[in-house]
Amino acid sequence: MPKKTSNKDPEEVKKTKIQTLLRGFRDILPEEQAIWDRVEEVAARLSNDYSYGRIRLPILEKRNLFERTIGKGTDIVEKELFAFEDQGGDKVAMRPEATAQIARAYIEHGMINKPQPVKLWYFGPMFRYDRPQAGRYRQFWQWGLEALGSDDSILDAQLILIIDRFFKELGLNVVFKINSLGTVETRREYVMELVSYFKQFRKKLSEVDKKRLTKNPLRLLDSKEEGMAELKVDAPQIVDWLDDDSKQHFMKVIEYLDEADVAYELDPFLVRGLDYYNRTVFEVVLASDDNSVAQNALGGGGRYDDLIPQLGGREEVGAIGAAIGIERVILAMKEKGIEFPKQRKVDVFFCQLGDAARRKGLLVFEEFRKASVSIAEAFGKGSLKAQLEAADKQGAKIALILGQKEVLDETIIVRDMDSGAQEIVDVKKVVEMVKKQLQK
Ligand code: AMP
Repeated sequence: MPKKTSNKDPEEVKKTKIQTLLRGFRDILPEEQAIWDRVEEVAARLSNDYSYGRIRLPILEKRNLFERTIGKGTDIVEKELFAFEDQGGDKVAMRPEATAQIARAYIEHGMINKPQPVKLWYFGPMFRYDRPQAGRYRQFWQWGLEALGSDDSILDAQLILIIDRFFKELGLNVVFKINSLGTVETRREYVMELVSYFKQFRKKLSEVDKKRLTKNPLRLLDSKEEGMAELKVDAPQIVDWLDDDSKQHFMKVIEYLDEADVAYELDPFLVRGLDYYNRTVFEVVLASDDNSVAQNALGGGGRYDDLIPQLGGREEVGAIGAAIGIERVILAMKEKGIEFPKQRKVDVFFCQLGDAARRKGLLVFEEFRKASVSIAEAFGKGSLKAQLEAADKQGAKIALILGQKEVLDETIIVRDMDSGAQEIVDVKKVVEMVKKQLQK
């Protein structure tokens, strides 16, 4: 009998021990939460400031939602979708991005009947069976903004401006690469032109690029294969195919960006891979004066004016959206040395001696927590010395010490960690007293 061969990468087979993570997946540990919280806080605040409302979308959707919108010929759908049949036989997929879902939700909840544009934001994990490397994972988080129900170019510019503010607040210098794809027809005509241009050089193309030529010719423009940079120089540029309306639209976006002092570069070869884009498309990258993680984009977006009608919604619903990759933002911040305290600030540390003190300690701890005083403990430790060391390590200003005697007397010892001075106080009054002392 012929031996069964597995088409799995040997690296992958080796790593399928159950006590290890799946390749391309990560745990985000407590030490990293401060930086994650900071990024999410800025994203949430800016979204709200610009009247975007939060939407929480499911991770699983019908598979054909992604196939029909992102496009069957794209890598995301063809190679990277985590898709399976569920127990009921439905073909489902884990979302590789959220724009298609947003469009679905907009139609499904009749948001067309609300004042337009409807502005939505999300923050959540996406899944793509990508080749893992620095800044590229199979589960990654995106902050996304989508404005549906208007094709006004001011929305394009405002979206870019919000993202620019986001990076500025986080301490990163970025540049937007920007282009216009025109209408669906423009794109179709342009693709034909592109194919006939690259066909002349078919022999020079790599195998990968030959495939792109037949399957997804626009991707040729992103190609990093050898020799492509030279071939691209004389390739037709989509800007020459733009219809007048799209040209006007694009000019306005640029004018608004100039006005708002956003750093951008026109990139005639930026096309973005997905089928649903039209008119404005952009990507955001680190400016050259910031250390670059890899040459990867931190985020990207564009218009998808035809997506809603394509999904069965009403005509003439223009829309624009963008998504920022959170892991890449954090990586860039770390590379630039933008760090955050690893632990929360602790003002008070509770120390106990003996079982009765521990039991009473649970209640004392609760009183402080309710009064919003930041307090920590080490109930698992026995010796006072070890507990005071822990208090010191966490930077507590005050240590509370409760022993057998204090429990009986209903008192507690308050120790100033700097001077070492101690005072015995009534346990019922300790919260107020400590609060006052901390305010000094
Ligand atoms: P896209 O929808 O492909 O334009 O992705 C938008 C942003 O999400 C990118 O610019 C990245 O920052 C981030 N991103 C996309 N794919 C990955 C991935 N596999 N791992 C980490 N971040 C990703």
